[in-house]
Amino acid sequence: MPRSSSESRLRPFLTRPGATFRCHADGFCCTNIHLIRPISRPERSTLEHFRTGCTGRDPNTGVYYLHTGADGACVLLKNGMCTLHSSAGFNEKPRICRRFPYGLAATPHGGRITTAHRCPCRTVGERAAINIEEAERSLVDSRGRLLVNVRAGNRIPWTERTNMSFDSYARRESEMLSALATGAEPVAVLQMENQKTRPAKETWEHLARGFREGDRFGTPGAALAWFGHALLRLLGFDDPAPVRPWSVRMASIQAQRASTNTPEETLGDWLSDAIWDLSWLGYGSFEIARRELAIRVRIFEVLVETFSIGGTRPDVAAAEAVMIVELAGGSVRWQNAAGTLGV
Ligand code: SF4
Repeated sequence: MPRSSSESRLRPFLTRPGATFRCHADGFCCTNIHLIRPISRPERSTLEHFRTGCTGRDPNTGVYYLHTGADGACVLLKNGMCTLHSSAGFNEKPRICRRFPYGLAATPHGGRITTAHRCPCRTVGERAAINIEEAERSLVDSRGRLLVNVRAGNRIPWTERTNMSFDSYARRESEMLSALATGAEPVAVLQMENQKTRPAKETWEHLARGFREGDRFGTPGAALAWFGHALLRLLGFDDPAPVRPWSVRMASIQAQRASTNTPEETLGDWLSDAIWDLSWLGYGSFEIARRELAIRVRIFEVLVETFSIGGTRPDVAAAEAVMIVELAGGSVRWQNAAGTLGV
């Protein structure tokens, strides 16, 4: 057990037991699921020097961004590979590209290396344990400084009225992660099995339709539409299925990579990192976080069933479902709902 400290720190680096990642060079993450914006002015210069016209500037916000093609993929992606990376090297890529899928949470025990799960490289096929050296090169800025996503202090808000030391929290968290690793039912691990995890129809329909009818552009937009669709289904509404702009890429991944995990294992792995990455601190307490996570678990289950019935291999269906619930969980619409609708 790492020694306790009252302040969050970044060293030593810590990885979650069982966490794995391997870049399979699918290029899936470059279809805007890590958000190909904003890029800095120096990064824009580098990119324009590499390929004139590959960036743009939003006239409303002034934010620079990489252009995407009709399929939502970055214009520098070719045959699943980043042409900038292959020509100039990893360090020449914009920070947002170098960073994905890693994150860093400073805690009193050290720096937790976290991973996003919305790329199928994190969810489908053989993967090795997280490599700390590889992660570290993604976690630093151009000057070599570590960039932090979340800081956890020595008191952790467990409910809206109670908190506990980080050491106590870490012990409880360890029990949850061990249970998930041995196949325990996720909603039970979140201690939500006796709680209402099916949202109330009257308060949630408006939210679901907002997701369903909002921005549908590219993979992230379609993912949010699917989230709204699954939420409507959970509420008992009929709703026509949205488009799946990622279906060709996912079919190719399914053809190339053997199945190595069940949907239940994919869900447990995702949920473990959703707890471990501590981003839920933004909700104010673990009590709120576990409620919203339990509902996203239910939505995951609806999506896996839908995609599997349509003929998608179960592990790939689970990869799609994780991508959707993770992208939706990061949306402003969902984060506001967690705070105001009593998720
Ligand atoms: S610059 Fe390269 S790594 Fe970044 S989104 Fe484009 S293809 Fe992907």
